Amino acid sequence: MDDVTPPRQRQNFFGGFKLTLEHLGRPAVTRQYPEEKRPKQPRQHGRHVLNRYEDGMEKCIGCELCAGVCPAKCIYVRGLDNPPDHPHSPGERYGYVYEINFLRCIHCDLCVEACPTEAITESKLMEFSFTNRSDAIYTKEQLLVGDDGRPQHMPWEDWRPGDDLHTSGWMRATAPAGNASFEGEVQWSGELGYGQRAPEAGQSGPPNDAATGNKPLRQTLERHLIPSDMPANQRGVRGIVTRGLEKARRFAPGASRRNHTARDEAYDQAIKDADTEQGPS
Ligand code: SF4
Ligand code: SF4
Repeated sequence: MDDVTPPRQRQNFFGGFKLTLEHLGRPAVTRQYPEEKRPKQPRQHGRHVLNRYEDGMEKCIGCELCAGVCPAKCIYVRGLDNPPDHPHSPGERYGYVYEINFLRCIHCDLCVEACPTEAITESKLMEFSFTNRSDAIYTKEQLLVGDDGRPQHMPWEDWRPGDDLHTSGWMRATAPAGNASFEGEVQWSGELGYGQRAPEAGQSGPPNDAATGNKPLRQTLERHLIPSDMPANQRGVRGIVTRGLEKARRFAPGASRRNHTARDEAYDQAIKDADTEQGPS
């Protein structure tokens, strides 16, 4: 029979008080949401947009591949032949009806992967609430980007600065098959409103920052940093001492608010640096 003796209980009666006292001086990890928000991650999957070319033509050709691949069956597309005198897309057909039910969507991005024309991509917006079902079903008119290539803002959506960054420039790190020779190659073209986004680093070997401009993206999250990203005072014995001093400063009484502000400012700056898209010239 298995030994069922419980592990030694370190948190006895006095241990509980010790834990409470320890936490009194530590920075709070909770935020006053929605007034205070954390910046979004560069590759976060949010609500979709339907992109257009720089001449205003719709990228969607109504092929219905996105609807076919969607595991949640939340996309409904009907294609129609383009009218010869005023075509909506450069193709033979266009998306006549396009709907996404966001009560079902699981943001897996399979629709984005399947789309042959990069018509559908995702923003980073994921904070929206509906008071009725029809609001949750986005129509083509709501999903299409505006003349400036930026997503339309619905009244029930909580957009903050940076949520629409990289919206049309979603990309893979490597080829779909994982072929390393495609690393560092731009694989998505987000022209209207955003310009072309620099390629992300590959997944094999040391990243080529000169070719990819990817370092600012790594800097948005400390755990994405690689040793060569670290300054000299963060490595080896000096690193241990520096981190110890830093920890003492962070856990000093009253440091919580200062820590939040400093971290947000640093993160916002990193997001700005990582925005390698160039707007229309
Ligand atoms: S992200 Fe996934 S679940 Fe949502 S519409 Fe696309 S394929 Fe469907
Ligand atoms: S969004 Fe892309 S995959 Fe879906 S119908 Fe349009 S062109 Fe086809």
